[in-house]
Amino acid sequence: MEHIIEKFLENHKLSRAEYLALLEGWENQESARRLAQEAVKIRDHYYGRKIFTRGLIEFTNYCKNNCYYCGIRNGNRNVSRYRLTEEEILECCHIGHGMGHRTFVLQGGEDPWFTDEKVAVIIRRIKAEFPDCAVTLSIGEKSYESYRLFREAGADRYLLRHETADEELYRSLHPAGLSLEKRKQCLYDLKKLGYQVGAGFMVGAPGQTLDHLAQDLVFLQELQPQMAGIGPFIPHHDTKYGSEKAGSIELTLFLLSVMRIMLPAVLLPATTALGTLDPMGREKGFMAGANVVMPNLSPLENRRLYELYDNKIGTRGEDGESMEGLARRAECAGCRLVSERGDAVEL
Ligand code: SAH
Repeated sequence: MEHIIEKFLENHKLSRAEYLALLEGWENQESARRLAQEAVKIRDHYYGRKIFTRGLIEFTNYCKNNCYYCGIRNGNRNVSRYRLTEEEILECCHIGHGMGHRTFVLQGGEDPWFTDEKVAVIIRRIKAEFPDCAVTLSIGEKSYESYRLFREAGADRYLLRHETADEELYRSLHPAGLSLEKRKQCLYDLKKLGYQVGAGFMVGAPGQTLDHLAQDLVFLQELQPQMAGIGPFIPHHDTKYGSEKAGSIELTLFLLSVMRIMLPAVLLPATTALGTLDPMGREKGFMAGANVVMPNLSPLENRRLYELYDNKIGTRGEDGESMEGLARRAECAGCRLVSERGDAVEL
């Protein structure tokens, strides 16, 4: 174990079998501490003690997909569906800009009502009204041509978690018609088009083993994304995984540290899912090497309808979710919430 950690700290890179050996030690607190200490050192070297904010606008909960773990999957008839209007989206940005956000993330289900042209119009309007801000999209799998149109409209970044790099696990979590191959193709297309790209996965997804996670690390090592979203799986009552266990917080934190060491300049959120499972989850994430937080900017009445998993925080406008609350959380972890675009540092 010791020897694998030393090798990893030296080379920032391991084989699948070695990653597996590293991950097998996740319950060893000494190892976790050692990795976190190094991860924080690396983060501080590239980004200082800054925590970047991303204002998240969940603009539609309509989705044509049916990912089995997700609360807003198409097959869930118990969700009342909503779409924000263009004006409402712009209003979210306006409020968010006033709060200090310099990145807006447009996230949604895969909703064909928002045609490429409609999305492009929204991107252009945000970029025209807030020229000092970055626009991040998180709207799923699209064609190369669509991604190109969005990029030309001004989109800077794209979040598309690969979910799992194992073919079989991918098939077990998604209906036929969705494939890992397509998912990966999208990520490579986005890179080619010059987006800052975010991939990632859930920790503790049903059926996931440590070897699956080792494969995720190998895939991310190859992809070299600028951002990585890693959060615990949390069951949603209206899915077939409703009574599964949630992912482990400690394993998630361990993986955040590993990710920071593997991709030193990666932008790494302390995810909402981490904050949902543990009231101190985000603080712990920062102490494990994360440097991004993504508070919700959607209108309050829509938030509870964008329920990817049970008890998602931020849906009631809780106090710890305000900018002041998040600034306190950052400080608690020895960091500082900043009002900047927070682009990825090029190595
Ligand atoms: N439709 C977009 C956005 C998906 S929601 C897309 O396909 O990219 C963003 C992320 O939430 C997903 O990538 C998934 O990893 C995560 N998520 C979905 N259901 C979840 C659950 N039950 N627990 C934890 N994370 C979940």
